[in-house]
Amino acid sequence: MALLDGKLISADLKKKIAEKADLFFKENNRKPHLAALLIGNDPASEVYVESKIRSCAEVGFTSTLVRYNSDISEDSVIQLIHEWNQNPEIDGILVQVPLPKHIDEEKITDTISPAKDVDGFHPNNLGRMMKNLPSFISATPLGILKLLEAYSIPTQGKHCVVLGRSSNVGSPISILMGRSGYPGNCTVTLCHSKTENLEGILKEADILIAAIGKPEFVHGDQLKPGVVIIDVGINRIPDLSKKSGNRLVGDVHFESAQEVASYISPVPGGVGLMTIVGLLENTLLAAQKTIYTK
Ligand code: NAP
Repeated sequence: MALLDGKLISADLKKKIAEKADLFFKENNRKPHLAALLIGNDPASEVYVESKIRSCAEVGFTSTLVRYNSDISEDSVIQLIHEWNQNPEIDGILVQVPLPKHIDEEKITDTISPAKDVDGFHPNNLGRMMKNLPSFISATPLGILKLLEAYSIPTQGKHCVVLGRSSNVGSPISILMGRSGYPGNCTVTLCHSKTENLEGILKEADILIAAIGKPEFVHGDQLKPGVVIIDVGINRIPDLSKKSGNRLVGDVHFESAQEVASYISPVPGGVGLMTIVGLLENTLLAAQKTIYTK
């Protein structure tokens, strides 16, 4: 078994992004700029946003973080996004989810200019991705593709089983793995909570991408020897041996799965770090106007 080491690969890719950001600065006399909005004080969102902002600094991007209390009106959020859409000094816009219940997530996503939608959640980008046209690909699926690429994992003709059909991870990665090209050309099975015979499907997977948010749901004895495992899940479980009283685990039971897998991404240290790379990559592309020319 070999690790799909997100720590190693993300560090390497961040170095390359930093070099390109430096070149962008020399040519444009400004740095790529990510604007992020955090509403409320959800602890997990705080950690994610802080890590995104820190990573921007690491690769030489400018970042702006605006924080609103959770009782901010939807209109005020929309107004801020309009301002950011118009601002030529801002390349990428990120609105950290989940949002408070009174704010319509779809409306907010639709308000972000597709050309600045570095999270790749806008319907224009999702539609373009479906058609295999240049688009911003959601950060986590993009990070997964980059991890597979970094280890030259063969994908053509393989059976890729995706667990979970969320609009930001499971659904887009299932499309991407089935697209023509590399990584891609897989035969994809997308599973969800209503899937029947999950046991039988799991046993057939050459590549398993697990994104369901259920701690250690999949065990090694359910999998085919040689399977490549991408574990997207981030779950906190109690662990009294830790100072914090808990620890992070994925959707796959690492200890048993590593006995059968050819490659496996750990949690933490796998897809989470690659997601940040996906976001940085998209911000750079937005600044360079690679996907949209205006
Ligand atoms: P989500 O919105 O939480 O949805 C979970 C999906 O899993 C749903 O499609 C659900 O099916 C499916 N599911 C639930 N129980 C299942 C079961 N027993 N068998 C098969 N499918 C089942 O998904 P998400 O936002 O993609 O998050 C999933 C996990 O990934 C979470 O742990 C999250 O924290 C993590 N995550 C990590 C990153 C990262 O950067 N590493 C990024 C995003 C998310 P239904 O549609 O039928 O309900």
